[in-house]
Amino acid sequence: MDVLLEAIELTKQYKGLKAVAGYSVKISRGEIRGLIGPNGAGKTTTFNLLTSMVKSTSGNIYFEGKKITGVRADQIARLGICRTFQNIRLFKNLTVLENVLIAAQIKKKYNFMSVLLSSPSFLREEKHLVDRSLELLETMGLINAKDIKARNLPYGQQRKLEIARALAVGPKLLLLDEPAAGMNPSESTELMGLIRYLRDKFKLTIFLIEHDMKFVMNLCEKIQVLNYGTLIAEGSAAEIQNNPDVISAYLGRA
Ligand code: ATP
Repeated sequence: MDVLLEAIELTKQYKGLKAVAGYSVKISRGEIRGLIGPNGAGKTTTFNLLTSMVKSTSGNIYFEGKKITGVRADQIARLGICRTFQNIRLFKNLTVLENVLIAAQIKKKYNFMSVLLSSPSFLREEKHLVDRSLELLETMGLINAKDIKARNLPYGQQRKLEIARALAVGPKLLLLDEPAAGMNPSESTELMGLIRYLRDKFKLTIFLIEHDMKFVMNLCEKIQVLNYGTLIAEGSAAEIQNNPDVISAYLGRA
């Protein structure tokens, strides 16, 4: 097994609450992995820990065999762990292309501040970045929207733009936090195909959080289930669906 990411016993304590408690995972290169659990189970906190957006209380993270615990978030992105957010975080007043261009800069720039200070008009002159960004927009089916301000994009396309932006940084591991949220059934079916396509095209490993069970069960080779910060199950879609602890975790919170 070619392990790309390993987390061992990650814990995040907020005062009296353990948002994540002793979470471990091993993800192989090329895998599409799912993380599910009821509201407040600790899924987003897990992604925040894996990307150093919050500091763990204890535990360790290894990426490509190297320890990355405590490494700064921007360095984590440059190492190849990139993510999208549950609440879309686009630059709403910039165009679709400019959003991707800014992300494409992250690899080159020393810190995020200098990226944020880069003017979109200057970036447009960096031809190789523009070409790469346009290619990404083509892949994501957003090319016709390239000059539209992000705020004016339909919601489903904003979600896709978030993915395009994460891809522009050049990830090896792509973390998607509820990529299908707010999408209609035909958009989410299309997104499933797109995620598989992106995995193959860019040789990605994908780890995703999703509430849409059909989406997770169809797409993910292996799924983990969190409840109250603790991993309660891990396995194939069939194993997870029939697991009594998983059923009671969901029913118990309903
Ligand atoms: P959802 O499916 O609703 O997005 P989730 O599984 O992603 O939920 P988290 O957002 O990771 O859950 O939250 C896990 C727990 O940690 C929740 O009880 C939440 O209120 C708590 N929590 C998250 N961030 C903080 C914080 N900064 N300070 C205090 N508590 C927090």
